[in-house]
Amino acid sequence: MVDVALRIRPDLDDLPVYVPGKTFPGAVKLASNEVSEGPLPSVLSAITEAAIGVNRYPDNGMVDLTAALAKKLRVTEDEIQVGCGSVILCQNLITVTSGPGDEVLFGWRSFETYPLATRVAGATPVMVPLTVDHTYDLRAMAQTITDRTRLIFICNANNPTGTVVTADDLRAFLRSVPPHIVVALDEAYFEYFRPSPEQAYDALELRREFRNLVILRTFSKAYGLAGLRVGYAVGDPQVIEALNKVHVPFSVSTIAQRAALASLSATDELLARTDAVVEERGRVTARLRQLGYPVPDSQANFVWLALGERATDFAALSTEAGVVIRPFAGDGVRVTVTNPAENDVFLAFAERWSQQNL
Ligand code: PMP
Repeated sequence: MVDVALRIRPDLDDLPVYVPGKTFPGAVKLASNEVSEGPLPSVLSAITEAAIGVNRYPDNGMVDLTAALAKKLRVTEDEIQVGCGSVILCQNLITVTSGPGDEVLFGWRSFETYPLATRVAGATPVMVPLTVDHTYDLRAMAQTITDRTRLIFICNANNPTGTVVTADDLRAFLRSVPPHIVVALDEAYFEYFRPSPEQAYDALELRREFRNLVILRTFSKAYGLAGLRVGYAVGDPQVIEALNKVHVPFSVSTIAQRAALASLSATDELLARTDAVVEERGRVTARLRQLGYPVPDSQANFVWLALGERATDFAALSTEAGVVIRPFAGDGVRVTVTNPAENDVFLAFAERWSQQNL
């Protein structure tokens, strides 16, 4: 065998590998913002029925699911692109807008895919620090737009801090963005949103006003299909057509498409579950604050503990105590909110830790 270095792009050398929260038998997993319940019986039977046909490729056009989403969201089918998780749609948006020399702008800290996928495209991530309240700093972002900016992500609610921007700031920002720059409003946690009047906005309404706005949503969180990988983008037909061109053929399985359709039919039942999580979010936040933890208000199915340098140790001890959470070294930890029993296991650990450390 010839011993030569294989030609891999050198600019990817220092790209970190994405490491999701690891779990182990008996652990409570609060690391990936999943729901704790399995699929509804109606969704399970759609999955079983679809499994019978897996000798065939799936419908590459994702026609039924696209039509159902268009109907539900009151948009046209050419304004929707379904993808293998919204993470792929983030990546594909970068692919269709940005290449070497171009800039992709977003707040930081935020969803880790944004910088990674930007680097994979050979483009430059431009990361604007969050405000002291752990919120997207849209004013600072507006000032950071250059003639090389090709795409902007706004993660609302922001992963991992759970914070949201005000509707006035969002509108003002959208007005300030040159209309040729695509703005992706990542609403992965949309169904957990219980906004104050200042935070309330209708993304689909905004999209009618701002042609460059693309909304990203997912079936992974409130719809409980994280394991099946289905997300969708709502945007201008020009963007959707471009996304369609880079769509990896057959990447959304028949099982995923049918499960998503069945979940849409069970929207009321599934969304009722989010009320329970929202209630728990309030309880967990209040208790953590009472214990002395700095926790911003969250509009997602997780809370952020701004522990700074102590984040990694905290998460390691939490794992030892049987609760797997997500650390972000030097910054904080993100803890998924699920049902009272699981949340209580985490709160018991947080209480023990606070007695020695806060
Ligand atoms: N956007 C945000 C902000 C997220 O937190 C996530 C999941 N962690 C995604 C997109 C991707 O979700 P999925 O690929 O499961 O649809």
